[in-house]
Amino acid sequence: MTDATESNNVLIYACSGGSNVAEAADQAARQLAEEGIGSMFCMAGVGAAIPSMLGKARKASRTLILDGCPNNCGRRIAETQNLPHIRHVRITELGIEKNKGRATQADIAKVHDAARAALAED
Ligand code: SF4
Repeated sequence: MTDATESNNVLIYACSGGSNVAEAADQAARQLAEEGIGSMFCMAGVGAAIPSMLGKARKASRTLILDGCPNNCGRRIAETQNLPHIRHVRITELGIEKNKGRATQADIAKVHDAARAALAED
């Protein structure tokens, strides 16, 4: 683990839709958490402005958003709720087409790698 991706109160938010890109976001986020890159956190709870969740979310050292498609739901929520140090991955920009099927292991790996790269940015 490099300094740039070291877990330091990094909160990871995955797209929670019903499509393949949402599954890829969720699975990649779980891998990142297992690697100690950060902790998964609830996009819906922050979007609903649950006070205790907002308090924790605003104290993150980095906010990693894995959005499935150009609607960028997660980034919109993060910006609306003034979350700090946002790093963003949009999965459809990785050459993965949104559909109603399942995410492949290759898709999940692409999202995982893009997320690590986004966290490594200054
Ligand atoms: S970012 Fe796209 S896929 Fe994800 S929840 Fe929003 S509309 Fe659905």
